[in-house]
Parts: sequence; C-alpha cells; structure tokens
Amino acid sequence: MENKYIHDTEDALLKTYNRFPVVVEHGEGVYVYDTEGKKYLDFTAGIAVCSLGYSNEEYKNALKSQIDKIMHTSNLYYNTACGEAAEALKDICGMDKVFFTNSGTEANEGALKAARKYAYAKKSGRYEFIAMEHAFHGRTIGAVSVTGHKEYREPFEPMMAGVSFAEFNNLDSVKALVTDKTCAIIVEPIQGEGGINPAEPEFLEGLRTLCDENDMLLIFDEIQCGMGRSGSYFAWQGYGVKPDILTMAKAIGNGIPVGAFAMTAKVAEHSLKPGDHGTTYGGNPLACAAVAKTIEIFKKEKLVEHVNEIAPYVKEKLEEIVQTGGCAVKAKGKGLIQGLQITKPVSEVSAKALEEGLLVISAGSDVLRIIPPLIIEKEHVDEMAEKLKKALA
Ligand SMILES: *Cc1c(COP(=O)(O)O)cnc(C)c1O
Repeated sequence: MENKYIHDTEDALLKTYNRFPVVVEHGEGVYVYDTEGKKYLDFTAGIAVCSLGYSNEEYKNALKSQIDKIMHTSNLYYNTACGEAAEALKDICGMDKVFFTNSGTEANEGALKAARKYAYAKKSGRYEFIAMEHAFHGRTIGAVSVTGHKEYREPFEPMMAGVSFAEFNNLDSVKALVTDKTCAIIVEPIQGEGGINPAEPEFLEGLRTLCDENDMLLIFDEIQCGMGRSGSYFAWQGYGVKPDILTMAKAIGNGIPVGAFAMTAKVAEHSLKPGDHGTTYGGNPLACAAVAKTIEIFKKEKLVEHVNEIAPYVKEKLEEIVQTGGCAVKAKGKGLIQGLQITKPVSEVSAKALEEGLLVISAGSDVLRIIPPLIIEKEHVDEMAEKLKKALA
C-alpha cells in the first residue's frame, strides 16, 4: 500500500469493492494508463460503458461546451439537451416514451414501478414479478429483489414481495410460476454479470406470447447488452422480440452517469403520471448532452455495423484459445459481449492479465468477460488474444 491513492481510498472509503492494485490516471483510445505510466489494453470498457473509448474529441467537446452553458436545472423546467437526447434515444431503442435516470439500477426501479402502476391503473390486482436465476439487475432494494443471486439478496431480506425466480432459457419453468397476480416478467436478453448467457430466440419469443396471453408486461434489461454491443442497437431488435418496457444505462452516455427506461405507448397510457415518479438529476443537461452526442457519434461512425464486422474476429480468436486445450473450455456470447468459460479461478487470470497489460474482468464464477470499447480494431483483438494466452498459461 505504498501508493498514496490506494492508501487514501482504503483508509476513507467504505470497503465494498475488491479493487485490483492499479490506479488509473488517464485513457487514450482503447488503452488506459496508471499513475506509474504503465499501459493497459482495456477489454472492460469500464464494464460496458466507454464504448467510444477514451479519445473521442467530439464527445469531450460536447460535454465541455454543455458545462460552459449549464449543468443542472431541474425537471420543473425544460432544458435544451433533454428533448434532443430523448428523441435520439427513442429513435434508436424503438420505444415510444423515455424516462431518464442516473443509473441502471434506477432504470430498473422505474421499470418495476411502471409495471405496477400499469396493473394498478387497470385494476387488475397484479403485482408479482417473475425474474430469472443468475440475473443481475442492480443494487437497490427493488433491483436486488429481482436479482437471481441469493447471496446478493439474503443480507437485505425481507425483499420486495411477490418475486419468484425461473430458470433462464427454460420457458416451462417460467410458465409454472405464472399466476393471476403476475404483473411482469423481467429478463436480460443476454445475461451479463451472470456469465454472458444469450437467450435462445425461442425463449424470448415464448415469453412474449406468454405475456400477451396473460396481460402481463415483458421488461428487458439491456443495461449491459444494449447500445450496439450485441450487434444491433438493442438486443431486442436482433431477436425481433419487442419488450413492453426496456431499461438502459451504461453505454448510453459513454461514461456520464445516466440511465433510462422506455416503454410502448400502450403501457405509457396507463402507467406513470405526474407525481408518480421523479428524480432531481435525471434528464439533466450534462447527462443529456452526453447521450445525444454519443448517439450522434454512433450513427456517424456506423458503430453498430463495426460491431458486426469485428465481432466474428473476436469470436474466432476466443475459439482458437479454446481449441488449444488449456483451461479455457468454451466461448459464448453475441457481438462484443463475449465470455470465455475457464476452469482456473477467474480472479487469478484477471490478475495475471493485468500484469501482462490487459484489463479483463469476470462474469460469474467461471467466465472471463470480453466487453471492449466498440471501436476496437483487429490489431487490438490480436493483442488481447496474445496477452490472454499468457494469462491463461
Ligand atoms: C450494471 C447493470 C445494472 C445496474 O446498473 P448500475 O448503473 O450499476 O446501477 C443493471 N442491470 C444490468 C444488466 C447491468 O449490467
């Protein structure tokens, strides 16, 4: 603990994270640099956040210019950036109405409230949620209540009432939980934290039908897999299965704390009204300037197309590593949300990768998560593969 920054952090900050002993000082392109000047290839993108990497001047200038104008008003007035960001997000996510939050977990809280309000307005008496085993939806009480990891919930019980857990990709296990009180089903189309598990198309299609037949709402949490990462702006578009409520965060602002939930006009008509929900910071000009500019850059640089061009090469390299017969046993994922299942302890491999100058994190207990900035090129994939091989050896 000789480093002052590590010392001060450990001394003053509540110990809720096990951090790697690296102090990040700045980023450039798809690399970050620590206070000792060591360079790391970043295949975490700050957990699927910094999709544009760290050197996008246009993005940075948009934030600087918004700071010069105004950073905060409140939701009692309109601001110049909010409408622009909402229109742009609505357009790419294919939903009708958007609400801005400050984080992913808040987006899910809002989605749960929106679903309950919809049931309340329709006097259906429905309030229960069906969630998935191994799902991750955030850390507030509502979000933890639908998170499919017992160890995340247990210390904080009792949880929100009316939640049951089905097996991901097992439609029958969902059907078995449906009651006349079920209000909504919440699912990540591609589970992130739970181990990079893409849903089977038939599973999502089955959930859609089940919801339609029983007047239940389908909520997709695309906080991690959304915003281009899966190879379409949102994974639901790639699957062709549209949710009633969609939650987003992480990459939509490329690093500014911002999230959103969005819904169809049908849900909005009966759901949250003035007084039902709000946030001081949500929709603030700075966050909205980031969202609007991020989306503009995505379009201009055709980043979703780029994901589809580069992702097969990432997959090829990961498959190559599996073929060599070491401790990597399986590559799984979609687009630039990939996982490498390994038999060695993941934290050990992440620590060795760090020594090699590669940032890579875990997803669940036995998967390495490959979620680079979306701007990566072949040379970065080659460098990743080389470093990862050494870390796995
Ligand atoms: C990160 C994440 C969240 C929580 O988002 P925060 O911004 O950390 O609150 C929720 N759901 C999924 C799928 C996530 O990956």
